[in-house]
Amino acid sequence: MSRTEKLLPIAEDLVIACQRAYTRGLQTGSGGNVSARVPGEDLMMVKASGSSFADCTTDGFVITDFDGNLVEGTGKPTREALLHGLLYRICPDVNAVVHTHSVYSIAWASTGKALPRTTWHAKLKMDSDIPTLNVPAAMVNPEYFHLVEEAYKASPKLPGFILKDHGIVVTGKTAVAAEHAAELIEETAQVAFLKQIAAKLGM
Ligand SMILES: [Zn+2]
Repeated sequence: MSRTEKLLPIAEDLVIACQRAYTRGLQTGSGGNVSARVPGEDLMMVKASGSSFADCTTDGFVITDFDGNLVEGTGKPTREALLHGLLYRICPDVNAVVHTHSVYSIAWASTGKALPRTTWHAKLKMDSDIPTLNVPAAMVNPEYFHLVEEAYKASPKLPGFILKDHGIVVTGKTAVAAEHAAELIEETAQVAFLKQIAAKLGM
C-alpha cells in the first residue's frame, strides 16, 4: 500500500474539518489552512495553497517535512506550513492543526488581550484563556516562533492562540477535533464581544 493510500483516512478527516469550518462560517473564500501529522515520521500532510475549504477534496493535500519542503504530491504547500511544522515539533501530542480567519476572534484580538473563557462550556473544555500573539505579518515566520514557543511553555495544554489582525490557530488529536475547538474559540469570542456590548449599554 502506498503512503498516500495509507494516509487516506487522515486526508478524509482533513476534508471533513475544512468543509465544516466553511459551512460554520469560520473561514470564507480561499483563506485558512489545515494539516495533520504523518504518524511515525517527521512529516505532515498540509493543504495545498489556493483552494477554498469549500471545494477541498482528499487530492488537495501534499506531504511536506516540518520545514515545509515538498516530499510527496503535486501542488504548492500552504505558506503557513512552517508554523504547522513548529507546532508538531513542540507539541508531541498534537496530530492536527486548523487555522482560520474567524471574524469575532480577529476582532477580539484587536484588544491585544487574551480571550477569556466566557462560558461554563469553554471553561470545561479549555484549560486556559486563549492568548493573542502580536505577529506583525501575514504569516508566522521563524523570527516570531519564540512567541508561539513562549505561549506553549506558559500553558502546555493550550488549545490554540489568536494571531492579531489575522486569525486563529487551533490544535487537536484529529483535524475534526481541532476544528471543533476552533468553533468553540470563535463562539467564545462572540460571547465575549456581546457581553462587553451589553455591559456598555447598561443591560
Ligand atoms: Zn492565515
